[in-house]
This record gives sequence, structure tokens and C-alpha cells, in this order.
Amino acid sequence: MLNHTSENGMATELQVQIDDVYACLGLCAGCVLTPDERRGKSPDMPDDVLDLAISRLTDHAAAMRPLKRVNVTFAIADHILMGGDYMKRIHALGARIVRAGAPSSMEYSGVFFTTSLVGKPAKVMELLKDVREGIEDDVPFIPLVVLDGRVVNATKFGAQWKEMVLYAKALFGKVDLNTNLSVEACGSMSPAELMLFAADNGFDDVTVNWTPTLANANATLSDNRAMSLWLLEFDELVRARGDITTGYGQYLDRVVENAIRDRGGDGASGMAEYVKALVPETIRKSVEVDHHGNLLAKFEAVGDIPHAPRHGLRPLGHISEGSVDEILARGQPAMLRNVMVQHARGACLACEYNAVCAVTGFHVSTGVARRAGKQEAAGECPHVARPLIEAAYLRTLRNFGTTNSSP
Ligand code: SF4
Repeated sequence: MLNHTSENGMATELQVQIDDVYACLGLCAGCVLTPDERRGKSPDMPDDVLDLAISRLTDHAAAMRPLKRVNVTFAIADHILMGGDYMKRIHALGARIVRAGAPSSMEYSGVFFTTSLVGKPAKVMELLKDVREGIEDDVPFIPLVVLDGRVVNATKFGAQWKEMVLYAKALFGKVDLNTNLSVEACGSMSPAELMLFAADNGFDDVTVNWTPTLANANATLSDNRAMSLWLLEFDELVRARGDITTGYGQYLDRVVENAIRDRGGDGASGMAEYVKALVPETIRKSVEVDHHGNLLAKFEAVGDIPHAPRHGLRPLGHISEGSVDEILARGQPAMLRNVMVQHARGACLACEYNAVCAVTGFHVSTGVARRAGKQEAAGECPHVARPLIEAAYLRTLRNFGTTNSSP
């Protein structure tokens, strides 16, 4: 998926996620959904909730102008299982939000839908063709293909699967690959294998989602060292290659660049003030609605991660309670307190990146780790944040040095 753009600290991209479908035939250990949730056969978001969500988000997008990009993602699982008519409908609904935001660039704007792209290739391609022929042309509709990293070398990803991906790319103009990282997936899929898989199958972007929940904590938080080494290596491969994009490394570079501009080399002090100064603007332009109609604050770290009950956090409110801005105004103080509380405890208190880390979504994983009994040892980061932020500082300072010394 795409990353936030910003100018002078103000986000110029509106990101909306609507969690309408949980059905999936996959078994990713790092998935945020439980096996029971994935068993469904129909959309999880009732029609009246979906319609109200679209109406609220359309008004919100119009109020957010001017924007460079607007993207709306229908998540979390396999939309192809819902059939072609449903997919055409969500494109039409999502396109209303995109148009309301009037993005200055349609190149990185659009409606995205998640899919595992499983099924008989001929049938899947027929369905995709029917969907493409049945939607308006002005707003792109882009597949986010979710890959279970444990099966990256499986024979099912043969020539026919590649044909399916390339066909989808020809139809929709772009196909992005998503993978849900778990300790098991890290062990069975090296960064180089994922890169080769993405390149071989014609993907333009690889989103790595590392999203610990209370239910998947054992799968996502049991080997932080292996996880961070994997993430650092994959990010290096992406930078070296140049023709495939991924989010988290570039996102952290932007966070650190802003921090150095705002605060010089001090990444730690004044955490609460820094959170209050930056997070409200982030959240106005990055929202998620779950299948019940709860409005969630959506943060970014390694992929997107929201304040949601599955992470032990309360929603901002419910879309029936008023406009997005009204719900934000009511829910924001408690949400900000939750961010600060995590960073005022344990190893975070003395960490040299405390304030900078607090304006990302890493606090959600910190809270999950502590609630799940995976409390950090003294002086140790509870997960992967510190090595990733440290790498972003090294890159940014190197670039600043290069820029300053250039003639
Ligand atoms: S980098 Fe780790 S230890 Fe430091 S503030 Fe973030 S989560 Fe806490």
C-alpha cells in the first residue's frame, strides 16, 4: 500500500480503511483475524453500516481538501469470495470518497481491495474481467494480494498464478502484494525470496504488515530479533533494487526527517508535547471503520495498525454518533492518553527515541506485548521499533551530511 505524503508536517493524503470482509481461505499466522472470523462466507459489515460509513467518510474527505492523494481500502480478507457484483458496488462506494476528496494526483489515489487471489485461475480471471468492465474509469480499483509467507515456495504459485496476477495488472493497471509477517513466516521466507517472488510475479509494491494482536502475540512477538533483522534486510533489498516499493522504511525515514527538522538530534524529550502536536493531524487523515461501524484511529508502523479492541484499545467512537470530526473531538483525548501511557513505562522511559517512536503506531504493539505478558527486559525495546528507528536515523543523518557537504 501507499504511504502518507506530507508538506510542512501537514498530511496531504487521506487514507481510509473499511473493514467489510473477514472471509478468507488463508492461514497466515500473522493475520489480525482469528480463524473463526475468517470462516465467514458473506460480507461482515451490514449494508446499513456500510452506507452510513460511506456517507460519513465522503463528508470527511470533502472537508479535508486540498489533498494530493485519497485512497480507500476495503479490507481485511478476500473480497473475491464475495462475488463480482459486491466488488463493483464497493468500488462505486469507495470512488465517492475519492472524488469528494478531489485529489490533485490520481496516480497514487484510488480504491483498493484485499484478496488472496485463490481459486481456479480461469474463473478468477473471468470474475476480474467482469468487475473491470462494470466499474467507472475515473477512479482506479487496485488489488492488494495477500500472500501467506509460509507458502511462498509452494507449487500453487506456479505459472498459472503468475498469469492471474499479470492479468489482474493488465486489467487494473497495478497490483500490490501484502504479506502478514509472523515469526514462522520470517523463518520460512527470506527477504530475498519475498523480493524474488514479487519481481517474478509482476508486483509493483510490497506491503509488509507486522500487526501484533492479543490473539496472535505468540506468532508475532516471540522472536523480536529475528523479526527486526528480517525487516532491515528486506528494506535494504528494496532500496538496492529501486523498481519495487515498500512502506515502512520510507515511512520511518519521513518520521525521522521531520523529527530532526523539528527537534535536532533529540529523539526523546518532551514526548507528551510531541504526541499532542503531531498525532491529531495524523489521525484526521488516517481513519478506519470496523465491521460494527466503530471509528478507529489508524496509525502506521510496519504496515497500518489501528486502536482497536483486538489490540486491547478502545475505538474513537461509532459512526452513528456524528461526523468524523465530532467523533474525533470526543475520542481523541483518551486515544492520546493511551499513546503516552505506553511511552511513560518500562524501557520506553529511558529510550533515546521515546518521543519520535510515540508519533508512530509502534505504541500499539508495545501495549499488546505488555498485555500479552511479553514485557520487555530492562533496557530492551519490547519489539522491533528500536533497530528500525535507529536505521532510519543513520540513513537520514548520512543524507543530511551528504546534502550539507554538496557544493
Ligand atoms: S523504540 Fe522501543 S523502547 Fe524505544 S520508545 Fe519505541 S517501543 Fe519503546
